[in-house]
Amino acid sequence: MHRHIKRILFPAKTIRKRVKTLGEEISRDYKGREPILIGVANGALVFLADLMRTLSYPAKIDLIRVRSYGQKASTSGLIAISKDIEIDIAGKDAIIVEDIIDTGLTIDFIIRHLEKNNPASIGVCALLDKSAARKINIKINYAGFPVINEFVVGYGLDYAENYRHLPYIGVLKPEIYS
Ligand code: 5GP
Repeated sequence: MHRHIKRILFPAKTIRKRVKTLGEEISRDYKGREPILIGVANGALVFLADLMRTLSYPAKIDLIRVRSYGQKASTSGLIAISKDIEIDIAGKDAIIVEDIIDTGLTIDFIIRHLEKNNPASIGVCALLDKSAARKINIKINYAGFPVINEFVVGYGLDYAENYRHLPYIGVLKPEIYS
């Protein structure tokens, strides 16, 4: 285990199994429709790469990236798109693939932004759901694991661009970020 990690929440094998069941659920629910996956960079890259390979259809993908201004520890609500999607989702089903939903402000902003492209539908698939921190009501269609209000890293999730490479998801020692 990395020396900055307090404890492992989800080992690689547990994540792999859960991602597979999410992929099976998506494939079943959207049978014959082939939704486009839109990953929220950079945190969701590892999840997106694994999820797309569990689907029973040849999924198309794209990336969106947002920047949130203000305090580092929590989402301020001031959010801007720093990289938009390039694929055309008009009239198509889309699923936003996110690493973690905390306050919900980021995903709400992304949904509103993507709706301007007139997709047939927008779903939300989040690997982690930190529901205790939610500030607005968000419908998560596919949620991997619930997490409590602790700062987690690994499997794509970072702190100051570190720890994304870890194959597991763990709680970062508070002394690293405080
Ligand atoms: P929200 O807008 O829902 O508050 O924030 C979502 C974003 O905050 C996530 O995409 C992620 O970048 C970041 N975030 C929230 N909680 C955590 C956490 O525990 N660990 C990491 N690494 N990022 C988090």
